[in-house]
Amino acid sequence: MAPPTQTRSTCPYCGVGCGVLIEHDGAQITGVRGDPDHPANFGRLCTKGQTLHLTATPQVRAHSRLRVPVLQDRGGGPPKPVGWAAALDRVCGELLRIHGQHGPEAIGFYVSGQLLTEDYCAFNKLARGVLKTPHIDSNSRLCMSSAVVGYKQSLGADAPPCSYEDVEQAACLLIAGANPAWAHPVLFRRIEAARARQPGHRLIVVDPRRTETAELADLHLALQPGTDVALFHGLLHACIWQGWVDAGFVSHHTEGWAPLKDLVRDWTPARAAQTCGVPEAHIWQAAEWFAQSPRSLSLYCQGLNQSASGTANNTALINLHLATGQIGKPGAGPFSLTGQPNAMGGREAGGMATLLPGHRDPANPAHRVDVAKLWGLSGLERLPGPGHDAVSLFEAAARGEIKALWIVCTNPAQSLPDQALVRQALTRCELVIVQEAFGDTATAPFADVLLPASTWGEKEGTVTNSERRISRVRAAVPPPGEARADWAIAREVGLRLDAVLNPHRPSLFARTDSPEALWNEHRESTRGRDLDITGLSYALLDERGPKTWPFVQGPQARLYTDRWFPTPSGRARFQCVPFRPLAERADAQFPLQLTTTRLRDHWHGLSRSGRVPRLFGLEGAPFVRLHPQDAQRRRLAEGQLVQLRTRHGETVLPLRCDDRLGLSQADVAMHWGSEVLSGLGVNGLTQRRRCPDSGQPALKQAALSISPANLP
Ligand code: SF4
Repeated sequence: MAPPTQTRSTCPYCGVGCGVLIEHDGAQITGVRGDPDHPANFGRLCTKGQTLHLTATPQVRAHSRLRVPVLQDRGGGPPKPVGWAAALDRVCGELLRIHGQHGPEAIGFYVSGQLLTEDYCAFNKLARGVLKTPHIDSNSRLCMSSAVVGYKQSLGADAPPCSYEDVEQAACLLIAGANPAWAHPVLFRRIEAARARQPGHRLIVVDPRRTETAELADLHLALQPGTDVALFHGLLHACIWQGWVDAGFVSHHTEGWAPLKDLVRDWTPARAAQTCGVPEAHIWQAAEWFAQSPRSLSLYCQGLNQSASGTANNTALINLHLATGQIGKPGAGPFSLTGQPNAMGGREAGGMATLLPGHRDPANPAHRVDVAKLWGLSGLERLPGPGHDAVSLFEAAARGEIKALWIVCTNPAQSLPDQALVRQALTRCELVIVQEAFGDTATAPFADVLLPASTWGEKEGTVTNSERRISRVRAAVPPPGEARADWAIAREVGLRLDAVLNPHRPSLFARTDSPEALWNEHRESTRGRDLDITGLSYALLDERGPKTWPFVQGPQARLYTDRWFPTPSGRARFQCVPFRPLAERADAQFPLQLTTTRLRDHWHGLSRSGRVPRLFGLEGAPFVRLHPQDAQRRRLAEGQLVQLRTRHGETVLPLRCDDRLGLSQADVAMHWGSEVLSGLGVNGLTQRRRCPDSGQPALKQAALSISPANLP
């Protein structure tokens, strides 16, 4: 038998961005291997990556995929499979009606960090350029928008300054609010190997829970949920007190030191220890290791970001790097991990309510003019300013202000917080379009039109991983049925709408008729910007493999080595952020603090990984964890069904007692929605309060009560 053909591509799950070799016969994907030449993983894959081919079996493609467009009657009539012509007639007809009756701002797009950069480019043009609505946001708002704003406030640009090589070169690694052992497994293998190679390596983990990552730590700071800013201020106070500040770096390359020094004067390690619930000696120890190490790097993710203080959590940690000069050198810097495979690409393409292509700002009129010119808008046309972030988009829909929602490659009826509001919004909209590869998500029943999209193994484009490394994604087999690439669906609608709304000029999509054409337009949008990739063509990526941005005279893996920061003064900016206690605190009625988490072998809402029985071997079903003493106090037993209640909703889950949680804390994995759980699923419990700077919801912070479930 002839060996299978191999197509080089990228894993569609997490932001590590591992390279994969897809084995196939041209019609069917038969296997997957790690790409030994990819610099993110050098051939390694985690359980999710190793089983990718099982998400594309003939059975999955035949029975779980959306294969043709479907018109749905939300009044209860039977769904009607239709051809593309009828589906697009309905989509365009309804969009034009709503646009004419209520104006462009009545239309919103909710897209995804799983889309390819080229898809983002197409939807951004469709929303802002053709329809002129400002309302396009991404589910990336839920995972990294606090990191984006933190970098911009502190360093002047949304650019993680480190690479995976830095993670290996660090002599001291501080992991805060992240569990890479489970959520970024291949990167974690690199951390383990680096520790084995470096005697004296220090690993500090900041996490309320004793996670699998924390179990490897030399020092685990098991702080109370929501006290990260207090901890980072306490660490900075210790550094100042001990004379561990890099005075030369602070005086030559930063600004805002004096007021921050004043602020943290009161944050003695003793006070921080009391606020955070950790031993004071541990704060002194962590400060010493971090400041005195020749190379200290921090890794952080949702534990810092998914908080009402998300941006402050980020900037307080970056303050620590700036004060100790732990940035811009090998093995040092603040390194935010991305959750999704292309959250970073969406930021570059400006597919978010607060961004424009090339890291431009929609609030800046000059930036809007730049993009209008790039896209070929006529002189009279203006691009809209900033729009609604993800949660406010659904709030506006619930109020009846947004009349049409186009949801692409994401499942808001499971993944957004405060599901009661989300469902109200989806029900109230006059038009809901759901563009998906899989037709059985929780959001699909709310759609008027379901559009079948191609997915991993079937589409072409690029993604950018956590270390700013751009990799090609390639098609190995054609999509099933009549499914089409996401960018192509947006383009088709854009051509039709432009012909009606903007007949005085050529369509914005006239020339961008392929992923490569969209990529070339995207490259041009970065010219002269901090992420300049004008030199990075498909041909170069194909010939030389994945590359990091900026790519002006070659890839740049590490930023700020010249100690110049992209701020008006060229200096990094200390941020004076006060510590704010949790907005939704435990009380007599809701005495526990709930956090949402991830399990090792599952991915987000399970729409892809849930097709693989093997991935349910470690954990097959949802549960709530509680410290054994908290369970005992409530006379609850292991395995018992318990009722979870928050101020936002309730559900029932089996109890698991686990002393790796702190007292008065509980956690539930985020993966299960209302199809499996009672009530509105895990996110029926969560709140939509947001970080005021980033708009990122506090998905990890809710006050909770647990009691025996009343079963019929
Ligand atoms: Fe895919 Fe992430 Fe696993 Fe790599 S670590 S194989 S990118 S899920």
